[in-house]
Amino acid sequence: MVPNGLRRRMRKVALQLPCHGTHAAYCIVRRVEAQRSAAAAMLTSGMISPQKCCRFMVITVACGATALPVIKAQTSRSASQAAPAAQPSMMDRLNAMIGGGKGAWSDEQLSTMERLRDKAMESDYAYKEVRHLTDNIGPRLSGSPQAQKAVEWVADEMRKLGAEVTLERTKVPHWVRGVETGELMEWPGQAAGTEQKIVLTALGGSVATPEQGIRAEVVVVDNWRELRALPAGAVKGKILLFNHPFDKELAATGHGLDAYGGSVVYRGAGPIAGATAGAAAVLVRSAGGGDYRSPHTGATAYAPGTTKIPAAAVTAEDAELLKTLTREGKVTMHLTLTPQTLPDADSYNVIADWKGTEQPKQVVIVSGHLDSWDLGTGAIDDGAGVAVSMATLELLKEMGIHPKRTVRMIAWMSEEEGSEGAAQYMKDHATEMGNHAGAIESDLGAGHPTGIYYAGKPELGKWLRPVAQVLDGIGAGSLVNAPETGEDIAGLTEKGVPSFAPIQDSRFYFNYHHTAADTFDKIDKKHLNENAAIMTVLAYALADAP
Ligand SMILES: [Zn+2]
Repeated sequence: MVPNGLRRRMRKVALQLPCHGTHAAYCIVRRVEAQRSAAAAMLTSGMISPQKCCRFMVITVACGATALPVIKAQTSRSASQAAPAAQPSMMDRLNAMIGGGKGAWSDEQLSTMERLRDKAMESDYAYKEVRHLTDNIGPRLSGSPQAQKAVEWVADEMRKLGAEVTLERTKVPHWVRGVETGELMEWPGQAAGTEQKIVLTALGGSVATPEQGIRAEVVVVDNWRELRALPAGAVKGKILLFNHPFDKELAATGHGLDAYGGSVVYRGAGPIAGATAGAAAVLVRSAGGGDYRSPHTGATAYAPGTTKIPAAAVTAEDAELLKTLTREGKVTMHLTLTPQTLPDADSYNVIADWKGTEQPKQVVIVSGHLDSWDLGTGAIDDGAGVAVSMATLELLKEMGIHPKRTVRMIAWMSEEEGSEGAAQYMKDHATEMGNHAGAIESDLGAGHPTGIYYAGKPELGKWLRPVAQVLDGIGAGSLVNAPETGEDIAGLTEKGVPSFAPIQDSRFYFNYHHTAADTFDKIDKKHLNENAAIMTVLAYALADAP
């Protein structure tokens, strides 16, 4: 029996972990790309063996204690099997480009795509929508009044366009942030009578400390390996910090998600590993690249059979500080976190259908997630994704276009806290999977897109070549095969629905992701419109294809 809170986070797949005595916890982290690279990192570190590696969810943290109950694996596939399919050769691409060709579409359809692309680039719609969601409504934590207001806003906006709007009910976690403070009380070289502030923020889903906080010595490790190497009892009753740096160089080369994956596993699994080792609380170095002493929040997880201990993210700067001081001597910290986990709340996925003219039951999904973390206003994560999905319907309306199949806009609820909205959709629409002709999600910000990720057979890439040539006009003509495209549409991908995402510039995304600086001003209108153009052109191409 898996408790609710954990089940929410584990989504579909977890790892069967036969315990060898030293392997004592598994962790669950989210975001499939992140999960994959986290799994890969653990594989290469020898922490787990490939046969035991599952496709999405992770893993085991070796920390020298007793076994935990085991979550049954539904899917077990080795890391090598999960690798993306081979990309077309340079020669194939050249031939396709030179050959041109209309592929599945008529001249008229291709010129409609070009008009949609150009109209998207001129439009104010997506920009205005994301401004309203962020500046007017604000942060949209699952279960909050702002999340509810956002549901009503998006539904009304879609009704204004003449779309058929349905609110599909889903239960969501209702976690509320409280006081969050950290002060060093004792450290080497301290001036008498002084304290030193530590900048931190509670991780989503964290339990609270007592109201007056806890005072304990700080132990710093850089990774799982260092934790395992500590003598038994070394962190008992202490505050354990995982000081694993976000790989800024990797992010700077455009691999932001991989950099995130290397860090987020500590955010996801840190509290389980810490509790297993007897820690009183866990801190993690922020999973993100910002340099302005700004902490990054995000969901964490607990496991059945382990104590739920308070968990927070410290800034990169404070993590470095703690490492330096603990190397010199004893460091004692006062940590106060008073978040609350309230009973699950009722909320909604907003679904807006632009009805197809010939096969209205067949749907192509365009989507983003409407909930956000609460430190900023959720502009790049993921107000932008919702806005460009809304813009798809608005552009079709503006241009009087009614494709053969239905284009379905979905503003997903509660992606951040466990994708409850997406899970509910999979339940409610289980018998209609065959009617899903495609699914697109934008959830990697609003940076310049260079093309389309597609999950499906390699032939899908060839088939999409004429569409990519239309998008080449805005610098977005790449087609890249990827095993997964978005957290909320991952269930659809697993069911064999072709799925897609814009390939967004991830170099800077994780500087703001889940911080107080995720605000409207981070959105560049031209780049946002490029994303809207991809969503709209691709949705039309899928919905109107023969
Ligand atoms: Zn997101």
